[in-house]
Amino acid sequence: MSKKRIGIFGSTGSIGRQALEVIAAHPDRFEVEVLTAQQNASLLIEQALLFKPNAVVIGDESKYTEVKDVLFDKGIKVFAGAAAMVEVAAWDTIDLVLAAIVGFAGLAPTLSALEQGTPVALANKETLVVAGDIVMATARRKGVPIIPVDSEHSAIFQCLLGEPMAKVDKVILTASGGPFLGKKTNFLINVKKDHALQHPNWSMGAKISIDSATLMNKGLEMIEAKWLFGLDAEQIDVVIHPQSIIHSMVQFADGSLKAQMGLPDMKLPIQYALGYPDRLSNDFPRFSFKNYPSLTFEQPDTKTFRNLAIATEVLKKGGNAACVMNAANEEVVLAFLKNRIGFLQMTEVIEETLVKIPFVEKPTLQHYYQADNAAREHAAELIHSLT
Ligand code: NAD
Ligand code: MG
Repeated sequence: MSKKRIGIFGSTGSIGRQALEVIAAHPDRFEVEVLTAQQNASLLIEQALLFKPNAVVIGDESKYTEVKDVLFDKGIKVFAGAAAMVEVAAWDTIDLVLAAIVGFAGLAPTLSALEQGTPVALANKETLVVAGDIVMATARRKGVPIIPVDSEHSAIFQCLLGEPMAKVDKVILTASGGPFLGKKTNFLINVKKDHALQHPNWSMGAKISIDSATLMNKGLEMIEAKWLFGLDAEQIDVVIHPQSIIHSMVQFADGSLKAQMGLPDMKLPIQYALGYPDRLSNDFPRFSFKNYPSLTFEQPDTKTFRNLAIATEVLKKGGNAACVMNAANEEVVLAFLKNRIGFLQMTEVIEETLVKIPFVEKPTLQHYYQADNAAREHAAELIHSLT
């Protein structure tokens, strides 16, 4: 069997690094065709020396020489800049793109891969939040699959195998609740980034860790689920499940529920997406009921964690609202990580930005870019006024 040639966009991140661990464990299955990173030139070089891709792209052009000086002699092509990432994503030597860039920046390379007819393993949920209609339509038009990497969506994808969508009542996304589960506003007002970055069950990149603490991550995931599986807002529920063992569920027309379970380890959904349609073996630790005598569930507290309520409204509203919310969220998370605004102020800025940016019911890709830009500018002004 010929090896699947993987292009990892965002290889230096949490998902990218774990994907390389999966690939290293299955050298008979995969080879690395392309690696990309934004800033971390030294890790990109290290990865390239180990996995010998055909090419690497460094987003930050000021680091081009540093990367080229080491890799050029090894026969590895080196490119720099955002446009190069989009170009390389369309190479027909890539069998599967792993979209592991964080944020809106992942949209253009993912669309480029889909336009070329390349299947995408999608970790970058913001791509679907921003422009899910266009992304899914492109995949359909080209007849290529988008295989979810996000653990909840991987779970739903697996539960749906062999089931007609017409018999799906709803999906239930599980949420760990994040590091501040059970806390109230008087506590949240004072939390700092170091605390917010401590996720109980998952070790992840900084942005998604903050999103998990504010529950915005679950809001983004509701919108991601809408597009991936073609669901209405009413068909997407969220339940808090602090142990993160049930990764999500599907309820069918006969009331039957299917769940996908396992220990919380992102390498599992990453491996599933890379290997799909095959299920590969591994020696990861196995779940044991002895270690988990109780699995618990509760309703999310959307009065305290208002981001989830905002995202639910945005999901119902459609148009460019999710794109605006995402842009504002990216800005506030960055500001919070720089200790410029408080935890609860993130929600205020997102809300005000949503009020301010004009609603477009049927946006084009250009509309999405405009909405992203305008929302970022507005959010940045609000952040400035708060600091
Ligand atoms: P991360 O911050 O650890 O890594 C992000 C990667 O994207 C890095 O390789 C970085 O170089 C690259 N990047 C950053 N900005 C870029 C830009 N402007 N242009 C091009 N590349 C850029 O993030 P992560 O935690 O690995 O998450 C990646 C994506 O996967 C996110 O969309 C996240 O929501 C999603 N995801 C992550 C996890 C997880 O466990 N980490 C789980 C589910 C979904
Ligand atoms: Mg998730």
